[in-house]
Amino acid sequence: MARCAFATAVKHMEVHGDVDGSVHFDAGAQGVEALAWIVDVPALEQRLAEAVRYQPQVEVVDSPVQAPLTAICEGRASATRAEFGVDFDVTPYGQHAIATGCLRIAARPSRAPVVLSQGILALLPLEGADGHSVAVVWSVAQADAAHWQSTDEATFTQALSEISQSSLGQLQLQGLRMVWPLQQAVAKRWCGPFPGTTEARTPTSWVLAGDAAHNVHPLAGQGLNIGLADVQALSRILQARGDWRSTGDLKLLRRYERERKAGLAPLGLAMDGLQQLFTRPEAPVQALRNWGLRSFERSGLLKDWTARQAMGLPR
Ligand SMILES: Cc1cc2nc3c(=O)[nH]c(=O)nc-3n(C[C@H](O)[C@H](O)[C@H](O)COP(=O)(O)OP(=O)(O)OC[C@H]3O[C@@H](n4cnc5c(N)ncnc54)[C@H](O)[C@@H]3O)c2cc1C
Repeated sequence: MARCAFATAVKHMEVHGDVDGSVHFDAGAQGVEALAWIVDVPALEQRLAEAVRYQPQVEVVDSPVQAPLTAICEGRASATRAEFGVDFDVTPYGQHAIATGCLRIAARPSRAPVVLSQGILALLPLEGADGHSVAVVWSVAQADAAHWQSTDEATFTQALSEISQSSLGQLQLQGLRMVWPLQQAVAKRWCGPFPGTTEARTPTSWVLAGDAAHNVHPLAGQGLNIGLADVQALSRILQARGDWRSTGDLKLLRRYERERKAGLAPLGLAMDGLQQLFTRPEAPVQALRNWGLRSFERSGLLKDWTARQAMGLPR
């Protein structure tokens, strides 16, 4: 990816426990330019709109059109999914994410993102290599969310600095504090025939993708990546179909559903386990998470394998 201000390379990543446990990842050690790229949503949407303009096969429409296959990508509260009676198995975490932006006023070398306990805090670098802004995603207990959303700026940034042990220097609030309830969720069915079309000569089908199909905890910043992996899997399966098969063929769509559900299960379990490990205050759990981080840091091959899995790289 070209060096620019809208995409920020994460060269180092540190995951800290609340005592002495920590894990460090380094792009150089993995032989890659960046462990991840942080891209602000408006910049991503603008690039996507530009890219679509140069795709003669893509037509942007204002309302749904009749097609053999309709992908429903309406986000976690998808109205069409509900209209089709698809169960969405939701496990609420009893936590809310507070998302905002901050400016680092006492600049230090960027070591973000830093993810810590006491609620899970992620600080993600923005605006390129010379940027001083960070995106903040802080998961707090549901009962504390309203307080942290409305408390004065100084108290809020002071709390961030204390939890992150001032690893990014002094922070100044830059944006509104938005709040989301956190949940893990997966749709029971990911595809089906459009209601009322099963008897038609050319039946039409629907398929779910992205947050309409699944939600994971944002602690690893994987939500969008998983949605893009859905798109990749669906396109691969549709492209490999025989000429005689319609893109709305339910056998193909069920293959996509099986493949993606199987791919998602380990990630969901890992996110769930980490969420539990990092939010429970009991002393034995605190000792376990810090011991776990220290052991993982020394694990060599396991740490290497995990980093490459998270980056979607082979090995
Ligand atoms: C606090 C927080 C922080 C996160 N941080 C990260 C991160 O750092 N990295 C990451 O990868 N992921 C992150 N995620 C997850 C990520 O935001 C989602 O996984 C991703 O946005 C899902 O994309 P989507 O297109 O499936 O759904 P959405 O982003 O929800 O988009 C769905 C869109 O469809 C529109 N829509 C709904 N119904 C209709 C309709 N009938 N017709 C037309 N349009 C419709 C909606 O208005 C919306 O614009 C985070 C999530 C949270 C809550």
